[in-house]
Amino acid sequence: MKKRLALISRSLAAKLIIAITLLILVGGGISWCALIRAGRKSLVNEAVRDAASYSELIKKGIRFSMLTNNREAIQQTLEDLSSVKDIRSIRLFDGRGRIRSSSRPADIGTAVDRSAPACTGCHADPAHPSGTLAQQVQWTTAPGAQGYNVLFFVDPVYNQPSCWGAACHVHPPSQRVLGVLESEISLAAVDRAIRKQALQTTVYALSLMGAAALLLSVVLRKFVLRPVTSLAGAMATVAQGNLESRVTPSSDDEIGRLVNTFNDMTGELRVARERMEAWTESLEREVAKKTEALKRSQDKLVQAEKLAALGRMTADVAHEIRNPLTAIGGFARRLAKGAAGEKEQKHAGIIVYEVGRLEKVLRDALTFSRNARFNLEEQRIDEFLQEAVSLHEPVLSEQPVSLEVEVEKGLPPVLMDKDQVRQAFTNLVTNALDAMPRGGTLKIAAGSEVVNGVRYVFLRVADSGQGIDEDKLKMVFEPFFTTKEIGHGSGLGLSITRKIIEEHGGFVRAESVPGQGSIFSLYFPQPGEDRPGEPKCWEYMKCGRDRDASTKCPAYPHFGRVCWVVAGTFCEGKVQGTFAQKYEDCGKCDFYRSVKKLREGK
Ligand code: ADP
Repeated sequence: MKKRLALISRSLAAKLIIAITLLILVGGGISWCALIRAGRKSLVNEAVRDAASYSELIKKGIRFSMLTNNREAIQQTLEDLSSVKDIRSIRLFDGRGRIRSSSRPADIGTAVDRSAPACTGCHADPAHPSGTLAQQVQWTTAPGAQGYNVLFFVDPVYNQPSCWGAACHVHPPSQRVLGVLESEISLAAVDRAIRKQALQTTVYALSLMGAAALLLSVVLRKFVLRPVTSLAGAMATVAQGNLESRVTPSSDDEIGRLVNTFNDMTGELRVARERMEAWTESLEREVAKKTEALKRSQDKLVQAEKLAALGRMTADVAHEIRNPLTAIGGFARRLAKGAAGEKEQKHAGIIVYEVGRLEKVLRDALTFSRNARFNLEEQRIDEFLQEAVSLHEPVLSEQPVSLEVEVEKGLPPVLMDKDQVRQAFTNLVTNALDAMPRGGTLKIAAGSEVVNGVRYVFLRVADSGQGIDEDKLKMVFEPFFTTKEIGHGSGLGLSITRKIIEEHGGFVRAESVPGQGSIFSLYFPQPGEDRPGEPKCWEYMKCGRDRDASTKCPAYPHFGRVCWVVAGTFCEGKVQGTFAQKYEDCGKCDFYRSVKKLREGK
């Protein structure tokens, strides 16, 4: 039972059906009672009206006999009339309640109690007997012996002038009522009619209630329960995460609007989820990118740490090796000078050459691993080039290489450490000659160029050698990167070159076309050009977005197509706080934003 109640309490359909059934039953029951009562009342009223006409007829029938005081005739008339169907008895009472004539002769002479149905009409309130009886108190019904109701109809016999003037038995005119005629009529037919009518009403009521219940349940099922059930099902699937579920509205009433709202809500949820998924995805991508960048930085740090350790070790080893090597070199040169035989001279020459190579490697290693001490001074580029090129002339004359030197006129002096820059320049020339073993053209140039709004003085070394593949070009500045045979290259030349030039506040640019040759340029910032008042102390701060090779970040050309910012100061002959950073989004760069604002005139 409890289970059933719980089942009903969870089912809207069951609740609605029970409520509507109860409503129909109560409403139908009330209507049924009202109909039965009204039917019964109308049938009884009809019987009363019949009884009244009948009583009037009797009264008229016995009037003459009463006036003539012919009791036998009255008695005979009453007996005759009582044989009519449904008339059970007719009695005539005198004013004191004694039966004077009756269709049942045995009753004659008996008196009736004043509480008898025939008397209550006038004697309900004996202090005020009614003058003329109203019809509603003229009759009463009572259950009869045969199971049918019986109607008692009383009709007062009033005193009339013809009565008090009659010779036979004069009644005084003050006597208002002479007697009462009581008819006892069987209501068997009326009762049958009432039962039949009740039965018909019940059948009609039940059919109507049944039809109403059926119609209501069909309407409820079609327009309420079915859409609500499918809506509940769809909501359950939504709750499980399936936002594709939709319900087709079957009407445009409140339920239809509810269904439409549900569909709209699911649609919005789907869009929000897609947006959220997209956000999550982009966030994941962003996190992955940042993680990757972090990993790269970490790797670089580790690499830098390793390089630093390696540098320290290299410096120590180089320091330890340099003294014995100098001694070996010195003695070898002496031996070469004093060697008697050709063979001895040749061997001593080899020792001198190899010691020279070892000394160069040691010098490179020391330059790379130690913080260089700069001795900056203003230097004219044409003079510098003249001196540097002349150092290479003996080597150049031994190779089938033609040399072209081109120096722009009027170049301003550049602040530089001559020895350091010479080393950087020598590295470029050595690489260029190595790239042209079968000869070619070596072009050396100097000039000035504006890169990203900064004017630079450049030194350029171009060869017509084998060139560098694109993938290798990215790596040539990495320390220890070399493609040369073991013993011919340390892989430190270009990284030392870049280190030196960057410490001068400049940058190195490498361009190459495989099979045609390479161009290496050293850029030195041109000091004080736009700050005449501060020729020896200047600062630069530039940023840009790499769109093509010519606008690449000067300090970090390998940044590629990203936004970059470079800042630094060059004061009292020292480069300080060189700073370069790359951004994947220019909007993140404060400096870029400020420059953009300036350009837009905000
Ligand atoms: P190393 O000369 O000891 O190998 P570098 O750092 O000077 O070290 O050069 C690194 C590499 O860059 C070289 O091994 C070579 O592959 C390449 N390279 C440098 N300059 C040139 C050039 N002018 N032409 C072709 N390749 C070059």
